[in-house]
Amino acid sequence: MLPATIGVFALQGDVREHLAALTALGVDAIGVRRPEELERCDGLVIPGGESTTMYKLAKTFELFEPLQKRVAEGMPAFGTCAGMIMLADRVEDGTADQVTLGGLDITVRRNAFGRQVDSFETELDFTGVDHPVHAVFIRAPWVESAGEGVEVLARVEGTREGAEADGRIVAVRQGQVMATSFHPEVGGDLSIHRLFVELVEKQ
Ligand code: GLN
Repeated sequence: MLPATIGVFALQGDVREHLAALTALGVDAIGVRRPEELERCDGLVIPGGESTTMYKLAKTFELFEPLQKRVAEGMPAFGTCAGMIMLADRVEDGTADQVTLGGLDITVRRNAFGRQVDSFETELDFTGVDHPVHAVFIRAPWVESAGEGVEVLARVEGTREGAEADGRIVAVRQGQVMATSFHPEVGGDLSIHRLFVELVEKQ
């Protein structure tokens, strides 16, 4: 069987780290800047970065509508941090002109942890991973609410960030779309990327 081709949205964000993680797992990983590149992909990662800028660049490069169409048609997608915001159906604390691709029946709150502290690291229990996952949060969103069809994969517990942060949902999956508030591409643990590769290979 040929390895799956997994794209990384490459107009903005920490693209290189995701390409490295995917390549280490043996898939054909490519940066996606143009609709022709998206057409080659069996799945897509949307990295961390800045979701408002991602939206504007995707519009400018005529990638927004093709992306939205592929996700709506069932292409597996995995968003991290800003990528989670891009895949959310609803955003709190977004900019007035912010538009997302959608795909996940969740409401995310942008920069949610930022009210206490900009960035932090913690260990998480993650459904489908047999060890605690080291999670790096950088001006991260959290999932404010999730629809019935959404599986919660991880929550933050007992962090220094305080009561408001505790118990918040930070990883979800709905069908073939998954997202994390944190950056699994940072730190060398490939477990979460492996879950996504398995999701792509099952399609
Ligand atoms: N705060 C960023 C946003 O709103 C996300 C931060 C990140 O991806 N590290 O898009």
